[in-house]
Amino acid sequence: MFDHRIYNFSAGPSMLPQEVLEECAKDMLNYHGSGMSVMEMSHRSKVYDEIITQAEALFREVMGIPEGYKVLFLQGGASTQFAMVPMNLLVGSGKADYVVTGQFSKKAYSEAKKFSDKIHLAGTTEDCNFTHVPVQEELDLDPEADYVHICLNNTIFGTKWHYIPDTGKVPLVADMSSCILSEPVDVSKFGLIYAGAQKNIAPAGLTVVIIREDLAGKTLPATPTMLDYAVQIKNGSMYNTPPTYPIYVCKLVLEWIQRLGGLTAMKERNQKKAALLYDFLDQSRMFKAVAEPVDRSMMNVTFRTGDEDLDAKFVKESSAAGFSNLKGHRSVGGMRASIYNAMPMEGVEKLVSFMQNFEKENA
Ligand SMILES: *Cc1c(COP(=O)(O)O)cnc(C)c1O
Repeated sequence: MFDHRIYNFSAGPSMLPQEVLEECAKDMLNYHGSGMSVMEMSHRSKVYDEIITQAEALFREVMGIPEGYKVLFLQGGASTQFAMVPMNLLVGSGKADYVVTGQFSKKAYSEAKKFSDKIHLAGTTEDCNFTHVPVQEELDLDPEADYVHICLNNTIFGTKWHYIPDTGKVPLVADMSSCILSEPVDVSKFGLIYAGAQKNIAPAGLTVVIIREDLAGKTLPATPTMLDYAVQIKNGSMYNTPPTYPIYVCKLVLEWIQRLGGLTAMKERNQKKAALLYDFLDQSRMFKAVAEPVDRSMMNVTFRTGDEDLDAKFVKESSAAGFSNLKGHRSVGGMRASIYNAMPMEGVEKLVSFMQNFEKENA
């Protein structure tokens, strides 16, 4: 249907930078004279070892990950971390605080309850269908908890924590699947960070975990070997075959970020893209942004017209015009434009001009 690349606003899997895809294509049949594709290599070969070593080093450099933290390349998606976190961290008081700000943090909360009856709902914004995140004063945190869990960017609802909650000495665990690498973050404020790769890092199949080393080592009884952070640390993410190809693409994406100026430059780009779309929404008579202005996400922009038929018409016409996946999640309705790192400014500019025309034609 399209003989060119279109603007893909999918929440995930999502766009990858074109330069990265071109590099993948160039390397496809014969990676750097190895005579084979990265997909075909032994994960224990010297040539692959260079790839994974560089991927980790770049992750550390780009995110400014301090000493004392390990970077793990795992599988199972962010959803496996919903269980892996309690299995490894719920080893003191057996208590944990969960803040529920959307569907994924709610799933994480439910999963944790399988491992302890002392999982506490430390805050929720469900009563307003997650249009905002709680302020620090609204959090009911227990100083004896083994950890506090939050989801930093709420992919479905289009909200983001614009502050890092103060949890005292209790380690903070964050699901950063949909905002990792979008802006600088002070890793030292977190005990553990995890992210499914398919939004801002690489193709699906890779999960990145950044863990403060002292938090690994103890597990609940019967924790599977594969789900033990200490085992993964000890084996350099190679207890079994890691997702070799996504790790290679991750390396290319990190190099691309570095070429553009690192996370500070990424943040500037992302702020400009998001501002363009939100500014349009704020002055539009037809489209309205869903999330509270103070808690708006830079990555996932939720909006609607207020008329379901008009929303459906917009989704259909935008898709035919080469703006794909703008339909919102069923729990929010309306539309959602996911504008991760790889979405070029031009994609947002063209979307806004399409929306302006749609508004005129349907007024
Ligand atoms: C997409 C997403 C998930 C689910 O990720 P999987 O890798 O599919 O398990 C979890 N949390 C957040 C914030 C997400 O955006």
